Amino acid sequence: SRRFNFCAGPAALPEAVLSQAQQDLLDWQGRGLSVMEMSHRSDEMVGIANAAEADLRELLGISDDYAVLFVQGGASSQFSAVPLNLCAQGDVVDYVNTGQWSKKAIKEAKRFAQVNVVASSEDSNFSTIPAFDSWQLSDNAKYLHYTPNETIGGVEFFWTPDSNAPLVADMSSTILSRPIDVNKFGVIYAGAQKNIGPAGLTIVIVRKELMGQSRDITPTMLDYQTAADNDSMYNTPPTFSWYLAGLVFKWLKEQGGLTAMETLNRRKADKLYGYIDDSGFYSNPVEKPSRSLMNVPFVLADSSLDKTFLSGADEAGLLNLKGHRSVGGMRASIYNAVPEAAVDALIDYMKDFAQRHG
Ligand code: PLP
Repeated sequence: SRRFNFCAGPAALPEAVLSQAQQDLLDWQGRGLSVMEMSHRSDEMVGIANAAEADLRELLGISDDYAVLFVQGGASSQFSAVPLNLCAQGDVVDYVNTGQWSKKAIKEAKRFAQVNVVASSEDSNFSTIPAFDSWQLSDNAKYLHYTPNETIGGVEFFWTPDSNAPLVADMSSTILSRPIDVNKFGVIYAGAQKNIGPAGLTIVIVRKELMGQSRDITPTMLDYQTAADNDSMYNTPPTFSWYLAGLVFKWLKEQGGLTAMETLNRRKADKLYGYIDDSGFYSNPVEKPSRSLMNVPFVLADSSLDKTFLSGADEAGLLNLKGHRSVGGMRASIYNAVPEAAVDALIDYMKDFAQRHG
């Protein structure tokens, strides 16, 4: 009865994870209560939390030089937490503008710092990534922020910017899709509701030496040091989301880890972009080297067919293909938990639709 879900977030979760959660729902491991009903300070929940952190560290290769924080407020809260932890009012911070999420991060950072936009692809309607040698980096920036995967525009970096200032990355829609070298980053943050687990949880991976320099006015709940000192339990954390993220991490390890996910994700994305490019009916605006593995926006040759396309897709068991409200068209988000069979089914539907309407 489950259908293929291409939602950008909250996104599809692995079916095996949901089954496990269903089994555990009323009675977690014979303890006679649900994870949702446990004290966050109980041995059981602390065990679940520690195992999730250990598995995430293993998957991403996170060393002891980094703290891993399980916080709340979404990636959007990190737009302010980053400057409030890493710089003082008036300090210069560098940002790259590659799409809607970069813009939101920039807008928020402007409240707390002097933002220098080092490069922008707005002129190309965010269909490109500005070449690194054109970036106007500041000499004195406290950090350089970028968005490795723009969820709305479907633009992804397949290289890491080289910066003297600590590198800060909003990895909300790319984390865990392929291996990364965490050591290149000062801070990595991600809302959970794509490749990690349910909404309500946010993960922050921060180099320890960058903590402990927050401003006096930094809200306690946004202070990385406070979260680290309290094992992310300064207040009541989103325990069920944390538990479910832990199940996703175990599932990822069973799949062969991030190298195996990358192989699968590349195959899924190549198939879909390949079909779109060959179709003569659908198109994707993003320059080929920067096309996202996770979010594939596309438009139909005739936008008056959009509604028909979407209702037919829904009937065919293909859910949530509508593009973001700010850009229109379609978007297929093909995160880790979206199986290759979903991409095959989508391509079959697209072919059939193009034949009938092209
Ligand atoms: N950054 C990126 C790249 C996103 O895709 C999103 C949400 O889709 C956000 C930030 C905002 O995340 P949240 O809703 O967790 O605040």
